[in-house]
Amino acid sequence: MNQEIITGQIAEYPVCEYAFIRPEDLTFLEQVRYICRTECPQYGKSWSCPPAMGTVEECRQRCMSYTGGFIFTTVAEVTDIADMQETLATRMEHEKITRHIRDLFCGQCKDVLVLSTESCANCESCAYPDAPCRHPDRMFPCIESYGILVTDLAERHGITFMNGASLVTWFSLLLYRE
Ligand code: SF4
Repeated sequence: MNQEIITGQIAEYPVCEYAFIRPEDLTFLEQVRYICRTECPQYGKSWSCPPAMGTVEECRQRCMSYTGGFIFTTVAEVTDIADMQETLATRMEHEKITRHIRDLFCGQCKDVLVLSTESCANCESCAYPDAPCRHPDRMFPCIESYGILVTDLAERHGITFMNGASLVTWFSLLLYRE
């Protein structure tokens, strides 16, 4: 993995902050999964949300099988960050950028696992659990669905978690195997 090449390519995209990480830097917590289970209406309704990806321990082992990682953010301006409809509407641009960044890593790596934001919204109605995912190439499970504590990861790498009252900060995490 030539990080300098990736860094040069990243500059062409509206990425706010980024950092190369090690899989060992990730903190996995059952409590994160508990919040999905008890507070998120998407729990058990999408291939991108728990429990579709297995237990937190299975997710941890999957992540540890990669040799390196990369976290990045994009930001979007909104008039009211509490307006979920307005906030979520900005997410599709982040997902598009995530696909581009994924492709950069695929140019250098054998295997790339991509985790991103919220529940997948590629289809009007998710095929889960009756049929396989219709678009596995652009379905990115939510980072939290793996039980990963994103705030901890961001803090450790100097990445701003909140950028202000009128800016939504979106995160994606890539794990790669060279
Ligand atoms: S791409 Fe479609 S089938 Fe796959 S997780 Fe997303 S909504 Fe579900």
